[in-house]
Amino acid sequence: HLDRIDAVEPAVHAFLHIDGDRALQAAKAVDEDVAAGRPAASPLAGVPLALKDVLTMRGAPTTCGSKMLEGWEPPYDATVTLRLLEAGLVILGKTNMDEFAMGSSTENSAYGPTRNPWDLDRIPGGSGGGSAAALAAFEAPLAIGTDTGGSIRQPGSVTGTVGVKPTYGTVSRYGLVAFSSSLDQAGPCARTVLDAALLHEVIAGHDPLDSTSIDAPVPPVVAAAREGANADLKGLRVGVVTELAGEGYQPGVLAAFEAAVAQLRELGAEIVEVSCPSFDLALPAYYLIAPSECSSNLARFDAMRYGLRVGDDATRSAEEVMSLTREAGFGAEVKRRIMLGTYALSSGYYDAYYGSAQKVRTLIKRDFDAAFGQVDVLVSPTTPTTAFGIGERTDDPIAMYRADLCTIPSSMAGNAALSIPCGLSACDGLPVGLQIMSPALQDHRGYRVAAAYE
Ligand code: GLN
Repeated sequence: HLDRIDAVEPAVHAFLHIDGDRALQAAKAVDEDVAAGRPAASPLAGVPLALKDVLTMRGAPTTCGSKMLEGWEPPYDATVTLRLLEAGLVILGKTNMDEFAMGSSTENSAYGPTRNPWDLDRIPGGSGGGSAAALAAFEAPLAIGTDTGGSIRQPGSVTGTVGVKPTYGTVSRYGLVAFSSSLDQAGPCARTVLDAALLHEVIAGHDPLDSTSIDAPVPPVVAAAREGANADLKGLRVGVVTELAGEGYQPGVLAAFEAAVAQLRELGAEIVEVSCPSFDLALPAYYLIAPSECSSNLARFDAMRYGLRVGDDATRSAEEVMSLTREAGFGAEVKRRIMLGTYALSSGYYDAYYGSAQKVRTLIKRDFDAAFGQVDVLVSPTTPTTAFGIGERTDDPIAMYRADLCTIPSSMAGNAALSIPCGLSACDGLPVGLQIMSPALQDHRGYRVAAAYE
């Protein structure tokens, strides 16, 4: 994998930091265990992995794709990182991402965009474009992403890889640099459903260091992926969400999605149309809630505690240093979100904006509850379009935001959702993703369907 990285990184730019020596050392330690007849730490011991640069790892920089954190080395491992290391996975490096995970194309990285290995003039999705591109370019067989509104699933979809957003609260957020705390969730990225399930079980599980971590058994995703692999779907009810199709969806995406639904029917699933009317409000509500939480979370980058500090001389007040640093350190999209969020939370506007968005969130949750009363899983395309061109949406934030139209509802409800490849678009030959959504803590349902389909 290190050779492959050397060969393709100049074109793809999936990584922000690569530590070959550390990776080789970790691999050697696994070899020594094997040679000495010691049991492997996990089924994934010795397997290389790419880690999104929003999770801390001791001895390596964590930049979150931002100049604000350039050169910052965290003094501790994220719980996810620690579990990976304890399971013997070999971490190759940290992957590129939209600054502080805000974006759908990885073009908001302060360190330059990642390119889609399917077509180097196109985006690999975002914010976790680096992790998805590393898989698609065969630089790593496994990767970790984080998903706030779609940042694992949408990059998975546009790179033809598997991306999983676990149920909120089942993977620890300790050491995951916060963007929108009530939505952020780390999850596995892989090229097959079983690989994703194996990685899922390594990183999931209760963590007392995260106050929102759920103290419940990890959903049995590996068993589901194995069981599903050669099984049919008889007796399973699959809901097709009416609202997640139609205007704005590319014909090539809709055709591949319909073919996937037909295949689920052939496997024995009963297909039902399900309406979730408040999903139409999910995108605008998300763009109030996520920026509100972001404006609060990013207040910690105050030039005093981490990374960058600009204009720190005896002539300036702390406040001036703070604003100079934030002016220089944050990119345009991050500033846009901080301003949106600060406005939405300001007194007099709080109820009208943030309060209303929270009510919409409840309506979305109720739509899911009603739908899951009728069906076992819900399906939709993962994204309305295939990978768009680099630069195509950078001047149009709304067009960029629409990339997450289908992924945001599950994020708002905290449910489990995953994306698997479902063929290529007949229009442009690029990968299309099938999204499978399950109720909270029923992550294994999605894996079972995905494995049967795959
Ligand atoms: N693209 C969405 C946003 O910009 C989602 C990002 C994410 O999931 N981290 O907020």
